[in-house]
Amino acid sequence: MPGEPQDDCLFCKIVEGHVPATIVRETPTTVAFRDINPQAPTHVLVIPKAHYANAAVLAAADPALAADLLREAQEVADEDKLESYRVVFNTGTGAGQTVFHVHAHILGGRGLQWPPG
Ligand code: AMP
Ligand code: ZN
Repeated sequence: MPGEPQDDCLFCKIVEGHVPATIVRETPTTVAFRDINPQAPTHVLVIPKAHYANAAVLAAADPALAADLLREAQEVADEDKLESYRVVFNTGTGAGQTVFHVHAHILGGRGLQWPPG
């Protein structure tokens, strides 16, 4: 079923508390935690508690939940006092997606180049 937890999913395990993470925010529908391999002073992942493989699948299945991720991105930025930040949804292996439970990377706290490469 779309949205159901997946046994082999690392981020479902973080949601369930079976894998530790440095959680910075939690809402009824989302969890935000620090990336284990940070690429910027602030590098937080915001995920829905429900399992969807990527941003497009999530947006099609549950647009309100997709919007929850974007609202939480701003909350994370506010908590880390970021004036500017970047939100990245890597989608597909060619774009660097390695965990197939949708996650927004929130990056900030340093200069961010554009285009990102
Ligand atoms: P992506 O490559 O876009 O799928 O992003 C996956 C992200 O998850 C990477 O930036 C990893 O560093 C991060 N990551 C992997 N395992 C963990 C973990 N146990 N806790 C926090 N972040 C993780
Ligand atoms: Zn999952």
